[in-house]
Amino acid sequence: MASSTKKNLDLSKEQIKDLDWKKGTDANSFLAEEQRLSKQKPMIHQVSQKTIGKFSARINQMTSEQLDVELEKRQLSTSGDMDIRRIRLKHYYKYELTFQCKNPLTMIEQQFEYIAVVDFEATCEDQQDNYQNEIIEFPIVLINVQQQTIVDKFQSYCRPIINPILSKFCTDLTGIEQHQVDSAPTFVEVLHNVETWLNERKLLLPANKHTFAFATDGPWDFTKFLQLQCQLSSISYPQWATEWIDLRKEFAHFYSVKRCGINKMLAKLGLTFDGRPHSGIDDATNIARIGLELLKDGCILSLNDSIHSSDPKSTPRNNNNDDDSIVFKD
Ligand code: AMP
Ligand code: MG
Repeated sequence: MASSTKKNLDLSKEQIKDLDWKKGTDANSFLAEEQRLSKQKPMIHQVSQKTIGKFSARINQMTSEQLDVELEKRQLSTSGDMDIRRIRLKHYYKYELTFQCKNPLTMIEQQFEYIAVVDFEATCEDQQDNYQNEIIEFPIVLINVQQQTIVDKFQSYCRPIINPILSKFCTDLTGIEQHQVDSAPTFVEVLHNVETWLNERKLLLPANKHTFAFATDGPWDFTKFLQLQCQLSSISYPQWATEWIDLRKEFAHFYSVKRCGINKMLAKLGLTFDGRPHSGIDDATNIARIGLELLKDGCILSLNDSIHSSDPKSTPRNNNNDDDSIVFKD
């Protein structure tokens, strides 16, 4: 875990904000930004493990109240359980030492301008192995990374072909009713609409393209549902879904906790689920809220799973293990 924590904190020169992201703004603001950066003279300082270790040990001794005082001093959120707040302060401190400036989190350069959170719902039966799940809801929640906000949403139901009648189990689980899929376009049509929607936002076409990545909760959306759906629909697997950000994986990595589901991640952050669990759009919105908290805490969100390397079986879906002990090692 120590080496994975390191990934987020060993910042390369490319990760310092340069002026590239300012392309397209007017000359005055460009100059103002240049002046601001030249005044700040961002420097990357090697932080010794010994220094971090000392600070880490001190944070581990802090009471909840002391922790909040330190977080407030740095204008950081005091939301979340002790484990999360400790790690938040530890990461911030590492950034403080690395950049040696007043607002070190502003010096982090993210890899993507936009992150599109997806969470498929599919036909299902209770405890039936080798069931051919067909995607019945395709939601996207779009995050503007720099603004750290949700800026757009896409949602469509899809009409299943192999099992056109939803099981009671499926409707009870997802809240999706028969009439909603009966009147919906097929998956192939929805995929086309999704690509149009992405193109309209300059997320897919190479010209003027914004940098963007898809994000999920776990590996299953792409490795299980999308892959099977493309086979069932006899279409090729979309290029844009070959690599993605697994937020469940990143959450565990960044906060040094065991992987856990949406509800538990939210609870750890001091948040509660908004909406109806297993509704695709509500799941995606809540996963996006988790992504936003990671961004606010200085996590660099980058691709961490792919269709070629993912092993969904190695990641149990319902990990309700309560043993979420902190394993932040310095
Ligand atoms: P989720 O994102 O957790 O809502 O799940 C996505 C899809 O996985 C659902 O639409 C179902 O097709 C399937 N699924 C989730 N939980 C179960 C379960 N307990 N039994 C069978 N299928 C499930
Ligand atoms: Mg869902």
